[in-house]
Amino acid sequence: TPKLEIQDVGKIFKTKSGETTALERTSFTIEDGEFVTILGPSGCGKSTVLRIVAGLEEATSGKVLLDGQPVEGPGPDRGMVFQSYTLYPWLTVKENITFGLKLKGASQKERNDLARHYLQLIGLEGFENHYPVQLSGGMKQRVAIARALANDPKVLLMDEPFGALDAQTRNIMQEVLLKAWEESKKTILFITHDVDESIFLADSVYVMTARPGRLKKKVPIDLARP
Ligand code: ADP
Ligand code: ADP
Repeated sequence: TPKLEIQDVGKIFKTKSGETTALERTSFTIEDGEFVTILGPSGCGKSTVLRIVAGLEEATSGKVLLDGQPVEGPGPDRGMVFQSYTLYPWLTVKENITFGLKLKGASQKERNDLARHYLQLIGLEGFENHYPVQLSGGMKQRVAIARALANDPKVLLMDEPFGALDAQTRNIMQEVLLKAWEESKKTILFITHDVDESIFLADSVYVMTARPGRLKKKVPIDLARP
């Protein structure tokens, strides 16, 4: 079975002025270990589909299966990285990365070992005792990726994670993410409106139509990876 199945998901938002159909019968699957991007114009419903998979938003119709089981509400089986930095400002880099592990009861040694591993993977050795306010935008997103991976989720959900970064930092972050993906073998669902970014990162790209969002086509990317 696929790792993630989105089956006929529809979403209608009720607003003061009426209804907005954000998604119309959207279906797609992601295999275990696959890196998939959803590409589409602003407002087409990308964030909405990701938020439904994350359990932050309820679908009006259809369902989401993770390892064949329906998802209900958010859970640690789905790691998330958003565009705006969601690090805990009062915790150090190392404490941010290991926060979930601490809740799960991991020992100090386990947490130290995992923090060291992920700091090295994302290229932030030596920054473990810094606070988020001391870091650049790209560095904060490195920590957000490390924190998501350290919790060992079944899938990593990423909503325009590099959208706020300058072009050069963005390219570096794409390399960092590919390295982390290759090492962790995680299943990744990544949304973006950037064509170059989606083609550079993904095994395959789903193209979403303008509102109401509907997935058009799965495009396999045959370009050699760097
Ligand atoms: P994208 O991520 O592709 O930019 P979104 O999923 O954010 O698109 O939005 C899809 C459509 O749904 C847009 O028309 C947006 O205005 C609408 N929408 C999103 N969230 C809400 C909400 N909470 N209430 C009402 N409309 C919403
Ligand atoms: P993105 O492009 O990442 O989807 P947006 O700026 O469209 O970001 O949306 C940011 C937040 O505002 C989301 O939580 C979304 O659900 C909400 N939102 C978007 N459009 C509307 C809307 N028309 N009415 C109410 N909330 C909305």
